[in-house]
Amino acid sequence: MPFASAVTSQRRVLLAVVILLAAGFLATSLLSYHASRESIRNGIIDTELPLTSDTVYSEIQKDLIRPVLIASMMSRDTFMRDWVVDGERDTGRMTRYLREVMDHYGAFTSFFISDATQTYYQAKGVLKKINPQEPRDAWYYRVRDMQEPYEISFDPDMANQDKPTFFINYKVFDYQNRFIGAAGVGLTVDAAVKLIDHYQKRYDRSVYFVDTKGLVVLTGTRTDTEGPRVGQTLLDLPVLNGHQQVLTEAKQGTFEYNVYGTGHFVNVRFIPELNWFLFVDKRETMALNGIRHSLYLNLFICLVVTALVVVLLNRTLRRYQKRLEAQATLDSLTGLPNRRGFNLLAGHALSGNGPVTALLLDLDHFKRLNDTHGHLAGDAVLAGFAQDLKSCLRQSDVICRWGGEEFIVLLKDSDLAGAQRVAEQIRQLAERHEYSFAGIIQQVTVSVGLTQRYPQDSLQDLIARADRALYRAKLNGRNQVCIERPKPA
Ligand code: GH3
Ligand code: MG
Ligand code: MG
Repeated sequence: MPFASAVTSQRRVLLAVVILLAAGFLATSLLSYHASRESIRNGIIDTELPLTSDTVYSEIQKDLIRPVLIASMMSRDTFMRDWVVDGERDTGRMTRYLREVMDHYGAFTSFFISDATQTYYQAKGVLKKINPQEPRDAWYYRVRDMQEPYEISFDPDMANQDKPTFFINYKVFDYQNRFIGAAGVGLTVDAAVKLIDHYQKRYDRSVYFVDTKGLVVLTGTRTDTEGPRVGQTLLDLPVLNGHQQVLTEAKQGTFEYNVYGTGHFVNVRFIPELNWFLFVDKRETMALNGIRHSLYLNLFICLVVTALVVVLLNRTLRRYQKRLEAQATLDSLTGLPNRRGFNLLAGHALSGNGPVTALLLDLDHFKRLNDTHGHLAGDAVLAGFAQDLKSCLRQSDVICRWGGEEFIVLLKDSDLAGAQRVAEQIRQLAERHEYSFAGIIQQVTVSVGLTQRYPQDSLQDLIARADRALYRAKLNGRNQVCIERPKPA
């Protein structure tokens, strides 16, 4: 069963190649995917997010500096201080002043609260008297008692249907540096929201603000469904995910979290002017889609290459195996089929019902020829004789080097008389032919045993009879054709 085992080992080789190639390709593809993924992640965490956060931060600062300057100017304004010191007479003058500031500088609101009379003045007139017991007025007492000259707060504007507003609250002092009230301007968050929208759109990431208690205070209008909303607390959302200390101790940092199976990177920084945290949040899939795509392309190419290699290798192995099989059935000296080849061909030749004759041929005194001229000379004669033998036969006849200096031939569709003619022709050709080797001319004769296949014959029966005929040819003096007929039953 050598060919069956050759097929098995061929399959094993193919399988090993497929496994090696696939493992190699997979390993390199995945390694490079992970390397790119890591570098993209690091790029996002170390550069991209902090950079966006810096840009948003400086833009926010720019938008807040102007109002701070206006409020600062108001707190030093001599009209304002004189008017208060003079006893707050003629409310119209103060409200006109506040309206002027509001209109000229484009503020959303402007105000002054007098500490002496606890009156809240704004552009439209006196809003109300403030009251220490009123929670909505608590901001004023906070400003009065704080160390800093001003604060930026984010509160609903009582004068404007409680719209969310940034307030710049400045302390006002008289000329003896005594606290006399708080003045300032307010501006709507629209500008900040627009800015956030701009960044969200441009960089494809979420931007939002969170106060020190983790409450979401400001987002863009275009928040994705899973992003936080104003009023929500981050402690209820997956964002902080074990990083709560960023709001208390660390005050800044970059970390990752997962929501609905999507990874997010988030950068947090504290904005001291607002006492808020700025969150910049980027979805991982957006960033990694590109390299995931190239991973799939990579794997596809690997698959195609593996398939091509397998097909080519398979074809080469098959060709190689066929050649091996052919070589295994051929005799290397004469190029004729050997016994293995003969067995395959004879089975086919004997399968039909037509007449078949067998010729067994043996070169005469070949040992002597070898002894006289050498083994190589003997080889040359064997090869030459094989060619002569072939030249006397048809393509369809079976011919074989039976072993040593013996040959066997099966003639298909040929009767005894025809076979005898062919045998005689071979014998004469051998006798006539002068085989030359290394300048030495050699001649050889051949004895032939001939017999015909009978219906009940096996291949062994046929060969045995041919062998007996050959024996007689040798006994009778060699260089002749003898015929053996079956014994009558
Ligand atoms: P006979 O006429 O009775 O057939 O005598 P013979 O010498 O031919 O018979 P024998 O069987 O005694 O010798 C056959 C010789 O053929 C012996 C062996 O060395 C030689 N022989 C067998 N195979 C080869 C071969 O491949 N090359 C050569 N050079 N000689 C071979
Ligand atoms: Mg012999
Ligand atoms: Mg012989």
